[in-house]
Amino acid sequence: MQYGEVTEKVVDLLTQAVEEVYTDEDTRSIYASDETGLYFPPDVVVKPKTPEEIIDIVKIANEFRIPITPRGGGTGLSGGALPVHGGILISMEKLNNIIDIDTVSGLVFTEPGVITQVLQEAVAREGLYYPPDPASRGSCFIGGNISEDSAGPHAFKYGTTRVYVMNLEIITPTGERFWTGSNTTKNTTGYNITQALVGSEGTLAIFTKAVLKLISLPEDSLLLVLPFDSVEKATNAVGKIMQSGIMPSAIEFMEKDALEAARSYLQDVSVALPPANAMLWVELDGETETLFKQAEKISNVLANDVYGDVLFAHSDTEKERLWQLRRVIGLAVKTISPYVDADTIVPRKNLPLLLKKVKNLEKIHGLKTICYGHAGDGNIHVNILRGNLDEKTWSEKLNKMLDDITKVCVELGGTLAGEHGTGLIHRKRLPLAISKSHLNIMKQIKKVWDPLNILNPGKIFPE
Ligand SMILES: Cc1cc2nc3c(=O)[nH]c(=O)nc-3n(C[C@H](O)[C@H](O)[C@H](O)COP(=O)(O)OP(=O)(O)OC[C@H]3O[C@@H](n4cnc5c(N)ncnc54)[C@H](O)[C@@H]3O)c2cc1C
Repeated sequence: MQYGEVTEKVVDLLTQAVEEVYTDEDTRSIYASDETGLYFPPDVVVKPKTPEEIIDIVKIANEFRIPITPRGGGTGLSGGALPVHGGILISMEKLNNIIDIDTVSGLVFTEPGVITQVLQEAVAREGLYYPPDPASRGSCFIGGNISEDSAGPHAFKYGTTRVYVMNLEIITPTGERFWTGSNTTKNTTGYNITQALVGSEGTLAIFTKAVLKLISLPEDSLLLVLPFDSVEKATNAVGKIMQSGIMPSAIEFMEKDALEAARSYLQDVSVALPPANAMLWVELDGETETLFKQAEKISNVLANDVYGDVLFAHSDTEKERLWQLRRVIGLAVKTISPYVDADTIVPRKNLPLLLKKVKNLEKIHGLKTICYGHAGDGNIHVNILRGNLDEKTWSEKLNKMLDDITKVCVELGGTLAGEHGTGLIHRKRLPLAISKSHLNIMKQIKKVWDPLNILNPGKIFPE
């Protein structure tokens, strides 16, 4: 597809429409990359403060057929916010107000550029809970989370972002603005466009406001750190916990290398973790009295499986230190080597087999992996490390390894990506995970929304 150029005339028009327009190399370079480490500079960066400014930008893009890429916090791991065809990058960072918290209806009205943690803390001050908590919650935006249907540890009990998205104010690629749903707990009016937009990775519409559902803050929580002498025992234990009749609020898995990377990244060895080749962190939430009974039951169920003492963390400080260790793993691995993340997901019962097959592929392809993630959801992040490989060898080996990992996930009843999206990095593997008919319907949907293919082209769809 041939796109128009960002000429001086286009920049002039943008400058008339939007207060903040940047064409300098430094700014373009900042917005050229995300957490994938790939680099695609946009021709121009705009930072609108209102939906009206975005409508004007979209109209200019339509007139000159220029690609537009919405960008949130730039923490994406599949390259969704990379302007692969250049053009206009729309940073949503200035639309960063929490508009209202409705404590009676249990709703928060927000702009998309609000940082996830900021929103969680604001609603918590009202006694309310917004559960989706990607490990990047300190820097990712609500708009990015909606676009990726992001999750995190607590999605296990509480569901992914989509569960909480009630209504979206959007701007379509042709410049129309409307609300997609209603602010009610029930709604059977027409097609549910809101849910079709969640997870659309910035390819169908630009979100300018969101209405999100809130629930009550759990009274208390308790974190159990369970050590195992093998990955196999740890992953098998997930099934045993589920069969115990207890519903934890999170079940996270870490292999030894992941934990060691995080500890050395934080230079924190003060958390006395038991020696182990793999760990499960099981969080329970609810009434304090029940938590300890449930913790005891889980410890008993796994008494013959664990390797050493089970650690119980109850104070806020202890829990936060442990969660911090968990949250920095991705960043910590990056300090060891550049990596690409395979966001593997299978039905929970196939988790032990998934890990076994991934470790086998590690040997076959000669690429080191570090594995950790949301074991309760059967969703494990397989960080594939580049090490010292030259570009050509790395790219060839990586592609084969990613293909094989995707095939394994599909064979085991899973799919291509659990929570990080298809984006740029995984788009060529989409046909391994979905049928031709499915892909055709998706292409038709894209065409209806975006007839000129100017909104975030080069994502999701294989070339
Ligand atoms: C250390 C680390 C840990 C992570 N942990 C998790 C985790 O536990 N769980 C998880 O799910 N993810 C995780 N992620 C991935 C990432 O943080 C999420 O995908 C996040 O939702 C991206 O949000 P963002 O604001 O940074 O979006 P960006 O990366 O800027 O953009 C992501 C996509 O959203 C689109 N977009 C952004 N804003 C809008 C908008 N207003 N309208 C329409 N489209 C928009 C972009 O075009 C792009 O396609 C992690 C990432 C890192 C670096």
